[in-house]
Amino acid sequence: MSVDAVVVGSGPNGLVAAVKLAEAGRRVLLLEAADAFGGGLRSAELTLPGLVHDVGATVMAMALASPALRDLKLKGVEYAHPPLPAAHPLDDRPAVLVHRDAGRTAAGLGRDAAAWRATAGAAARAGFPLVDLLLRPLGPWPAGLARPSALAAAARFGAAAALPATTLGRLAFRTVEGRAVLAGMAAHSLLDLRAPITSGYGLMLAATAHLVGWPVVRGGSQRLADALVARLRELGGEAVTGHRVRRLAELDAETVVLDVSPRQFLKMADLPPAYRDRLARFRHGPGVFKLDWALDGPVPWRDPAVAGAGTVHLGGTMEEIALSEAETAAGRHSPRPYVLLVQPYAADPTRGGHTLWAYCHVPNGSTVDMTGPIEAQIERYAPGFRERVLARHAMGPAELEAANPNLVGGDIGGGLASLGQFLKRPVWSPAPWRTPLRGVFLCSASTPPGPGVHGVGGWQAARLALR
Ligand SMILES: Cc1cc2nc3c(=O)[nH]c(=O)nc-3n(C[C@H](O)[C@H](O)[C@H](O)COP(=O)(O)OP(=O)(O)OC[C@H]3O[C@@H](n4cnc5c(N)ncnc54)[C@H](O)[C@@H]3O)c2cc1C
Repeated sequence: MSVDAVVVGSGPNGLVAAVKLAEAGRRVLLLEAADAFGGGLRSAELTLPGLVHDVGATVMAMALASPALRDLKLKGVEYAHPPLPAAHPLDDRPAVLVHRDAGRTAAGLGRDAAAWRATAGAAARAGFPLVDLLLRPLGPWPAGLARPSALAAAARFGAAAALPATTLGRLAFRTVEGRAVLAGMAAHSLLDLRAPITSGYGLMLAATAHLVGWPVVRGGSQRLADALVARLRELGGEAVTGHRVRRLAELDAETVVLDVSPRQFLKMADLPPAYRDRLARFRHGPGVFKLDWALDGPVPWRDPAVAGAGTVHLGGTMEEIALSEAETAAGRHSPRPYVLLVQPYAADPTRGGHTLWAYCHVPNGSTVDMTGPIEAQIERYAPGFRERVLARHAMGPAELEAANPNLVGGDIGGGLASLGQFLKRPVWSPAPWRTPLRGVFLCSASTPPGPGVHGVGGWQAARLALR
């Protein structure tokens, strides 16, 4: 078919771009290299027949908070909330529990109750206007932030967010529990926790737990991708799998939206030298080593309250987690890594059984098998875990990148999340989705606002293309 727009790549950003362009009446063709749509939204039977595993994202906090996705009514997408968004087990004391309710979470932190209310609680109180500001950093100033109470809460968040997580932990929190839970949240950034703005990543994530919860898509994340593809087709668009685009010259359309990494874009197109040099300076972050398991029952957590959490942060105290992330940032493998674990069955019993995944951070491109250290961290808080394992599936950086070329060296964040690259993503520009090539836009997680299932990069690229 002759089309107005081609979208390359069907991650959440590519899918949102395709739908937005089709909603505006454009004839859209979506091309996906893999055999299935979705990128980070894919689900597959990774271990045993009949068991649904999310290959990438499971926790849909960003989707629910996102200005690009929260108002889309998609058929077949149902969000299921676990009893608790997150838990953080500790060795010799009860786990820290992150509830939907900020006040209840604060109450569980004892002497750090006020600190939680003043940081994560403040960000949650600032609500969607603050989320919109952070997810659409170059968009219009959200009207809701004109309210003095929201503005004050956002300002309080901003002051704390700029700090390294270890600094905020030491300055604002006094308990082992308060510091640990902050570090567990901040370590999602894949950064050394002594780096600026790591508090911001952690507090914003914690705030979404209070604001919208950390749900999963019932039946697997693939359903969200499939619903977006169905919407595109309803609007007259075409979507094709198994088609990898290698050169822009292959495409014939007025508008091209690329859900690809800057590195791929460099290979695909002849770019003006100045832009090419700036793009070539874009840096990737650490990789991850991910394990998926089929279990014969739930994880036997020593603290039974952890069973209700969709996400579990393992690694102990703030000091231990900071050390593990500093090791990774320095190019080493931590023997006791910070482990991010997701137990979808806490929210969704429809995935055929007890499926579980966890990853730890590793140097970019690492070839080290981290199965032992990851499982040791789970055993530390859930003795007898290994006896529950029916089957396991491992993906290091090479396997992740083979499944999705955007995961360069296993970097699931689409690029280092440093302060510098928060501002230059992938280059410094008031409209970084625009490229010097007429009608060609970038929309992947290597553009603002960065990683996560929010689709905002795609939304912004489509908005610019439609101008
Ligand atoms: C293991 C893991 C766990 C995660 N967990 C979460 C989570 O719980 N919650 C959350 O919000 N986020 C999570 N993320 C991050 C989230 O999945 C990503 O940030 C998000 O998917 C990025 O979306 P995207 O559209 O930029 O690209 P992607 O989702 O990476 O998709 C890009 C797509 O483009 C295709 N493509 C690339 N190049 C070409 C080409 N040349 N031709 C054709 N097709 C091409 C790829 O095959 C891929 O399908 C996780 C990621 C991983 C890997």
